[in-house]
Amino acid sequence: MLRSVFVLGQYMARTTAIEWTDATWNPVTGCTKISAGCDFCYAERFSERFRGVHGHPFEHGFDLRLRPERLKQPLHWREPRMIFVNSMSDLFHKRVPFDYVDRLFETMEQAHWHQFQVLTKRSSRLRDYVNARYPEASAPSHIWLGISAEDGTKKSRIRHLRQANAGIRFLSIEPLIGPMGQIDLDGIHWVIVGGESGPKARSMQPEWAREIRDQCKAANVPFFFKQWGGLRPKSGGRDLDGREWSEWPKLQRHRRARRKQETQDGGAARDHLAA
Ligand code: SF4
Repeated sequence: MLRSVFVLGQYMARTTAIEWTDATWNPVTGCTKISAGCDFCYAERFSERFRGVHGHPFEHGFDLRLRPERLKQPLHWREPRMIFVNSMSDLFHKRVPFDYVDRLFETMEQAHWHQFQVLTKRSSRLRDYVNARYPEASAPSHIWLGISAEDGTKKSRIRHLRQANAGIRFLSIEPLIGPMGQIDLDGIHWVIVGGESGPKARSMQPEWAREIRDQCKAANVPFFFKQWGGLRPKSGGRDLDGREWSEWPKLQRHRRARRKQETQDGGAARDHLAA
């Protein structure tokens, strides 16, 4: 699930420009649109550039494809990372069979030294899968489960997420293209907000972002303001009312800060293809 983020085209990358994660893992690529938030999907735009390029990983453009040869990749990354799962697709697309989803979850369960961020717009399918896999207890807390919503018409996705037996639940409200209104944040552990980027970016009104931030503050839910958006992700910066908002689920702050420092010390925080 990748919305309007600009990443240097990776479909499996050990580092990434996305502010709220460390790496991406794409054992599925390609998707189909499901709501207005998909209109200018970056993953589609990127993938379609290579349709017909023989031998390229995106030779088939944005057609949905399973990539079983990538299923074990995180097991080979020994350093703990925060991994965005399927940045170039949606894991809970109806054409991804549950027995294939099983294989991803097996990898995630084994690779317990990472944190995985699973993000979908197919929220009812996520709920049904997770509750069947973890009927008695919550999903392991290193597997974060999230939904993406673009405005207040998509609150049913939040309800479905809340119904899922998740250890950590998060909302990615990006691209924010309309007001969310009142959000029930009960059981939600993290909220990300961002404006759209790209050549057809739809602008985000400041009051829409403030309204969400203020609800998070009132509910003591960590709030992460990713970007205003524009032609490029960094076009408008990421200050909201004079400061950055980079809050994380509480247990993760220290660990991530330490890892980021290590990365800076190594001088290697750059996106790269890892095909
Ligand atoms: S669900 Fe995500 S990956 Fe799929 S089309 Fe929509 S924005 Fe793109």
